[in-house]
Amino acid sequence: MTDRPPRTTTDAGAPVTSDEFSLTVGPDGPILLQDQYLIEQMANFNRERIPERQPHAKGSGAFGVFETTEDVSAYTQAALFQPGAKTQMLARFSTVAGESGSPDTWRDPRGFALKFYTPEGNYDMVGNNTPVFFVRDPMKFQHFIRSQKRRADNGLRDHDMQWDFWTLSPESAHQVTWLMGDRGIPQTYRHMNGYSSHTYMWVNAAGDRFWVKYHFKTDQGIEFLTQEEADRLAGEKPDYHRQDLFEAIREGDFPSWTLHMQIMPFEEAKSYRFNPFDLTKVWPHGDYPLVRVGRMTLDRNLTDFHTEMEQAAFEPNNLVAGIGLSPDKMLLARGFSYADAHRARLGVNYKQIPVNSPKSPVHSYSKDGAMRTVNATDPVYAPNSYGGPQADPSQTDHAGLWAADGEMVRSAYTPRSDDDDFGQAGTMVREVLDDDARERLVSNVAGHLSDGVSDDVLARAFQYWKSIDQDVGRRIEQAVGATVGA
Ligand code: NDP
Repeated sequence: MTDRPPRTTTDAGAPVTSDEFSLTVGPDGPILLQDQYLIEQMANFNRERIPERQPHAKGSGAFGVFETTEDVSAYTQAALFQPGAKTQMLARFSTVAGESGSPDTWRDPRGFALKFYTPEGNYDMVGNNTPVFFVRDPMKFQHFIRSQKRRADNGLRDHDMQWDFWTLSPESAHQVTWLMGDRGIPQTYRHMNGYSSHTYMWVNAAGDRFWVKYHFKTDQGIEFLTQEEADRLAGEKPDYHRQDLFEAIREGDFPSWTLHMQIMPFEEAKSYRFNPFDLTKVWPHGDYPLVRVGRMTLDRNLTDFHTEMEQAAFEPNNLVAGIGLSPDKMLLARGFSYADAHRARLGVNYKQIPVNSPKSPVHSYSKDGAMRTVNATDPVYAPNSYGGPQADPSQTDHAGLWAADGEMVRSAYTPRSDDDDFGQAGTMVREVLDDDARERLVSNVAGHLSDGVSDDVLARAFQYWKSIDQDVGRRIEQAVGATVGA
């Protein structure tokens, strides 16, 4: 045995004779097209980038394990949530609006995407570090993201565009309040919570149904960056969060999150005072207290960022028996759009990329397509009389989980008594934030509004904040007046 590194080869496995010199006619002559290795290296290099995600392009993650420490079998039959179950998993954290090279510390919600490699197939929970979202109808999602990204004319991000959209979409008030507060810039990925935001369904072995929300609470404690700290880090260490996560895990300081659920009995959704599937609202803890489930620990770094993170594909419709979707319109639309985004970015066979492959057997009738690596087998159709896979009607599925009835309409959710846009945002400002946090909120909003927002949009923004809270709105108006008027 020697300690020599392995011999360089071409991608076809043939030995390469030089890592330094291309094939030329004499030392000073032209290079030759038959230099297969040079051509292969140049061609591969030119194709290294794949389209970045639109949104959530900048992110980082790690592998880990989820352990169910409590008994929640009364609520779900999902194998990964049975007492004592340990499930290998992958997590990806991200900003939303920035491109793949953008600073980690820009003010933005953070994605909190999890993939559990369960014995019953992959289960993905694709959440955020916020329990709510800016819009509640998927028709507006694309427009919302475009308003946060870049203008058509000069390719710049634009606060006028952002506030124009937000103030014309009052349902955004709760999430905007969150975003402009301390939690809008987490200190690290390790110091933030993750929420499903959406309501899902859990079903137990007896078929009893529950509406649920996931809360992954950081065991490191919530820590945030001030606007000034974040601005400095954006220049000095744009990959600050990526580096922090990688180094913590490399040093054995494994971050963990404790999963708690809010659980609503199936029938209560019908008469709850606001629509419990409205993504812009939380369920108050007083109504639905947290129920502890288990702990997720990230303990293994990636070894190839591209294959394990850039090609990682999370989708809310990767569900397992015992877990279902709810009638949240945003969630139902994401069920289509995530898989569609992966097909566009990675190709139709993206689930065969190892990081996306389930650890349980796959017996589907999908076949062929670009970059397929798993052999199809006959018979390639169903029904068949040649021993092909057969569906199992006894498994839980969407069928029968909930009922819907009505005319075809384009409409907001049916109004309920507490269905306003500003109430929960106001509660956060008045009852959750302390004086210092409120002052930072005013300063963050005023700073944002003082940067390129037109007079008409500014006037709407002051009204928007006064609808959230009169006093905070007035203070924001004064602070902007002092800056812009100066
Ligand atoms: P609670 O007093 O029980 O909960 C308040 C929650 O606010 C805390 O548990 C914490 O969530 C979160 N929080 C604390 N500081 C901040 C901050 N600076 N920025 C954002 N969130 C913060 O009250 P309710 O459940 O009745 O909710 C009151 C308001 O709290 C809601 O209108 C909502 O704005 C906010 N909230 C509620 C959550 C919920 O699921 N009920 C979750 C998060 C916020 P956590 O424990 O998850 O860290």
